[in-house]
Amino acid sequence: MLTRHIRNGVAFWRDDELLASSGITVAFSERVGGASAPPFASLNLGSHVGDDPAAVEENRSRLLAALDFGEMRGRLTCAQQVHGSRIERVGSSLVGAGGSALPGARLPVADADALLTTLTDTPLMLLFADCVPIILVRPSVPAISVVHAGWRGALAGIAGEAARVLSAIEGDDDIVAYIGPHIGPCCYQVSDERVSQFSNTFVTLAPADGRLDLAAAVAEDLVRAGVPMERQKRHGMCTADNIDRFFSYRAENGLTGRHCAVAAIAGASI
Ligand SMILES: [Zn+2]
Repeated sequence: MLTRHIRNGVAFWRDDELLASSGITVAFSERVGGASAPPFASLNLGSHVGDDPAAVEENRSRLLAALDFGEMRGRLTCAQQVHGSRIERVGSSLVGAGGSALPGARLPVADADALLTTLTDTPLMLLFADCVPIILVRPSVPAISVVHAGWRGALAGIAGEAARVLSAIEGDDDIVAYIGPHIGPCCYQVSDERVSQFSNTFVTLAPADGRLDLAAAVAEDLVRAGVPMERQKRHGMCTADNIDRFFSYRAENGLTGRHCAVAAIAGASI
């Protein structure tokens, strides 16, 4: 279960039970408690949206400190996120890629919308403003994956593919999925063509009034990949309905910041 926390003004959702039992952190950030000015106010974590890089850098540090990841700041690893379906396994050579928002810093992992690792003390962070954040964990390995799914990624089945890659690692069949805050069908009006694309691909999606339920598509995709509904946990809040808490690309006319999904496996030492 995801529980809301506020530390030093920074709000985030975390599965405390998972952390206590396995040392794996699964978290989704909100937008409060940061240093950025409007329209990025205030905990914008995206370095590609036009915000002041120094503010983004500070925001990332504040979030990591709030999650007790302060000592892992240099190991924060991010992806370029191109609305594709490529999954990158993060080995030691990619640790820290894109973690700093400052000009001239190392670039994020190129052309990837999902990151996966078995490395400890290596926070994987992807950025969102309406798209669906998915975190997959296998406590027995331990291994984690963080996935970005907009409509293209959801339709391409990136969440299920990440689950398959994660499941292929030796260990118990104990994969658990977390679907974070994203734009709900209440606010996600799309073309009839898009609705048919989804209803032709996912049986649980009925073509109805032009609204698209991306989480339902992701959930079905995950079931097909071997993650039953009872091992899927949903945050449940709509980003577009809650712009006091989350960034929403649609509700804020495309000019806004990014919140995140972040996961890490605690190690014995850094
Ligand atoms: Zn909504």
